[in-house]
Amino acid sequence: MITYPIPFNKTATSRCEFQYMMEAIERGHVSGDGHFTQQCNVFLEQFLSVPKVLLTTSCTHALEMSALLLDIKPGDEVIVPTYTFVSTANAFVLRGAKPVFIDSRKDTLNMDERKLEALVTERTKAIVPVHYGGIGCEMDAIMDIAQRHNIAVVEDNAHGLFGKYRGKNLGTFGCMATQSFHETKNISCGEGGALIVNDETLIDRAEILREKGTNRSRFFRGLVDKYSWVDVGSSYLPSDLLAAFLFAQLERSEQIQHKRQQIWERYYKELSGWAKANGVILPTVPPHCDQAWHMFYMVMPSLKHRQDLIAHLKKHGILSVFHYLPLHLSDVGQQFGGKPGQCPVAEDYSDRLIRLPFYNSLSDEEQEKVIEAICQFDFTKYA
Ligand SMILES: *Cc1c(COP(=O)(O)O)cnc(C)c1O
Repeated sequence: MITYPIPFNKTATSRCEFQYMMEAIERGHVSGDGHFTQQCNVFLEQFLSVPKVLLTTSCTHALEMSALLLDIKPGDEVIVPTYTFVSTANAFVLRGAKPVFIDSRKDTLNMDERKLEALVTERTKAIVPVHYGGIGCEMDAIMDIAQRHNIAVVEDNAHGLFGKYRGKNLGTFGCMATQSFHETKNISCGEGGALIVNDETLIDRAEILREKGTNRSRFFRGLVDKYSWVDVGSSYLPSDLLAAFLFAQLERSEQIQHKRQQIWERYYKELSGWAKANGVILPTVPPHCDQAWHMFYMVMPSLKHRQDLIAHLKKHGILSVFHYLPLHLSDVGQQFGGKPGQCPVAEDYSDRLIRLPFYNSLSDEEQEKVIEAICQFDFTKYA
């Protein structure tokens, strides 16, 4: 693997992660649902004002839990953005559902809610909005369509923790939402996630599915005198060691978010003139959205410009990367009927989008180098 002086992403830790991991070991409980798991759940429940948060091994697993909780079956349809990570769709495909892909809006690259109702059928069981880059989808319109057709909404909020739409926290709109604490996310423990349960009627079963289909959680709360196999389920609990690492990051989240805001705003400010002069599109944040400062992307005039800029930055020791390949054009997406031309906005933007280095320990000097190198990119050869 080639390493770059300025990578795309880097894990930043304080001493606290290690102290808490030591403490978890000293407490003698490093399997799931120990002291630190509890701390993380409560932190997120309080921060988001939601009835239940369950830490999971990943966002993918939290999405799988949501599909189980909604009893998704073969023949069901689930509407997912084509411009997202595979897990948004795969968690439902695993239960036999057909993913129905929706195109993106040009401004935020979020699912285009104006194209949503036309995709609803009698078989539609769920809509899964992804708040791309931590900027909220048009939740008013999405929730209205979902409610009128009696369809569940599960927010894949992997990018959006701490973001808001019209003053309301992302992750609190759907009956459920999922978080990711993967290394590439704002707050991380390497691999991890959480299921946010907003619909209280789903809480008991969520605990059971997460605990291998047993009522063990109720047993530990003294609500039943023995625990046994009561439902389907799997093992979605992370070790308390990972929860200890994660809690250290959650405790610092205000500081982390502040740092990320500074990085984002500096990129935006210092690249605006350059972008305007060269036909490069910078992200749009609608005024009613408080973003989560997850990433900084740019949309170049063409695929060639994008590839050349990635190569140019590599020469300067900087790793920038493209993002999702639209799911409807993937091998699996095509098996579900995906065809070129079906989601024109996502197809076009996915060719042209580039993401810049963005991590919690990115220094001012490093960011300076990235911006300088970008401004040296030669546009004249495309004239
Ligand atoms: C990162 C990500 C996931 C998967 O998260 P894991 O925790 O790695 O399973 C799912 N959806 C989106 C939109 C993501 O960015």
